[in-house]
Amino acid sequence: MSSQSFLSILTGSFSTPCADNPTVAMIEAGYREAGIEARYINCDVKPDGLAAAVAGAVAMEWAGFNCSLPHKVAVIDHLDELAESAKIIGAVNCVSIRDGKLIGDNTDGKGFLASLKEVTDPSGQRVLLLGAGGAARAIAVELGLAGAAHITVVNRDPKKAETIAALVRGSTECEAEARLWEGDAGVPEDVGIVINATSIGLGDAEAMPPVALKTLRKGLVVADVIPNPPKTKLLRQAKERGCTTLDGLGMLVNQGVIGVELWLGRTLDAGVMQKTLQEIFGASE
Ligand code: NDP
Repeated sequence: MSSQSFLSILTGSFSTPCADNPTVAMIEAGYREAGIEARYINCDVKPDGLAAAVAGAVAMEWAGFNCSLPHKVAVIDHLDELAESAKIIGAVNCVSIRDGKLIGDNTDGKGFLASLKEVTDPSGQRVLLLGAGGAARAIAVELGLAGAAHITVVNRDPKKAETIAALVRGSTECEAEARLWEGDAGVPEDVGIVINATSIGLGDAEAMPPVALKTLRKGLVVADVIPNPPKTKLLRQAKERGCTTLDGLGMLVNQGVIGVELWLGRTLDAGVMQKTLQEIFGASE
């Protein structure tokens, strides 16, 4: 009789549509590198199938799963507990299953923060945040929890920017204000970090958020959430002006690393995961 185990640890993702989500390739490359006998299964789950999918994951003793659009809010109804930032953000993209109990976390902002901390500590800094969607909301909350001093949220729809600013003011020690995005947004002198958290640049290397280029000064940290293509026009322009730049690949990789730490208590090799994504997105740097 063989003593070998043929049972894999199961993890994965529930979203729809999901055929273009490369997370499975990134995480399975990390599992292989670490010699972990685990799978990450990319599942197309429609809204009316979410309850059954969650129950199925529990029944099959999955270690955990990511959930992406359109399930980030709806999944909360199926969980037993929420981590602090997920509670504040009001959205979950990473669920851990421990002894049949479902715990929801939000790794969008945490992944961004881990990436940001490789180049600067946001504690005490003033931030200009472009956009007020789901990614901006998660990033703003994590920056607030990490001790940022002030966040200005700029958006076409100023009501959405104010919702995020109010959330940050109400749930963290960070000051925050909302601004209408009109014309080219200028970066104030006292701001140290600029973040594009809009969808401008996704799938279009020449798309550029309206920013006053002359205000991108040397030493400023300019980050973009766009993972594909990673070298966005904003980052290329910022680099030319001597800014420190940060692309959206790091945020995606760190989300994967944090998710697997929550599920398995193991830290995957971020370099291997980054290389896998770069190969997929055709980014050579
Ligand atoms: P949402 O749809 O929730 O928000 C989109 C934001 O972009 C809104 O603030 C919207 O403004 C703004 N926007 C879109 N087009 C324009 C435009 N032409 N001019 C000005 N503002 C514009 O999306 P998410 O927040 O969920 O995602 C945003 C991006 O973040 C996506 O491209 C996604 O790929 C990326 N992302 C990356 C992750 C990573 O790990 N790297 C993780 C999660 C997201 P308005 O409110 O006025 O419409």
